Amino acid sequence: MTAIAGSSRLDDVRTEVVRACRDARRDPTDVTLVAVSKTFDADAIVPVIAADQRVFGENRVQEAKAKWPALRAAHPDIELHLIGPLQSNKAKEAVALFDAIHSLDRVSLAEALAKEIQKQNRKPLLFIEINTGAEPQKAGVLPQNADAFLTACRDKYNLLVSGLMCIPPQDEAPGPHFALTAKIAARNGLKLLSMGMSADFATAIALGATHVRVGSAIFGARG
Ligand SMILES: *Cc1c(COP(=O)(O)O)cnc(C)c1O
Repeated sequence: MTAIAGSSRLDDVRTEVVRACRDARRDPTDVTLVAVSKTFDADAIVPVIAADQRVFGENRVQEAKAKWPALRAAHPDIELHLIGPLQSNKAKEAVALFDAIHSLDRVSLAEALAKEIQKQNRKPLLFIEINTGAEPQKAGVLPQNADAFLTACRDKYNLLVSGLMCIPPQDEAPGPHFALTAKIAARNGLKLLSMGMSADFATAIALGATHVRVGSAIFGARG
C-alpha cells in the first residue's frame, strides 16, 4: 500500500473519532487513538507518523523490539502501547520498551511487572484486561474476579493501575461488553478504558472508551 493511502485512512478514523465524541457529548481530547501497527513494517508506519500520529500499539514484545527503537530515535515523542498478551518472563523487556501495558491479567504478571517497574524506575500506564465474555481461550480476568485482582495489584504489589481493557467476543454485539467494563472501572475509581477496535470504536466511545485500539482501519487489512 502507498504512503498516501495510509494517511488518508488515518484521516477518516480521526474524523470518525471526533464524530463519535460529538454524538456522545464527549471531548475528543479525552479519547486517545492507539494506531495498532502489528504486522506492518516501518514503511507502512512512517507515513502515519508523518501525519502526526504519535501513539502506537503492538501485540508482541519481540516484534516491537525489532521495529520501534529506530522509529522512536527519529521521533522521541512517540508512545508505544502493548495491547497483546504478555508472558511474565518478558516483563523486563516490556517495561523497558512500552509506555502502556493493556494486558495485565494475572497475579504472576502483576508480580513480575511490579519488580521491573521498581527496578527500572519506569511508570507505564497499566490496564487490567477483563475477559467480559468469559471465553476460555481468551486472556483476561473474569468480571467477577476483577475487584479482588485490582485490590491485589494495589495492595500486594503496589501497582498503580489506571484502567481496564476488554476485547468483546467476535460473534456478539460489543456494547454490553463495553458497558460491563465501564461499570467495573467506575465502581473501582478507574479513569481509563481501553476498548474499541476498527469495527466498533464508535460504540466504545459512546460507552466511555478513553483509548481506542485501531489497526486495520488505519493500516489496511493484515496479511
Ligand atoms: C489487532 C488488535 C487490535 C486492532 O484490531 P483492528 O480490528 O485491526 O482494528 C486491537 N486490539 C487488540 C488487542 C488487537 O490484538
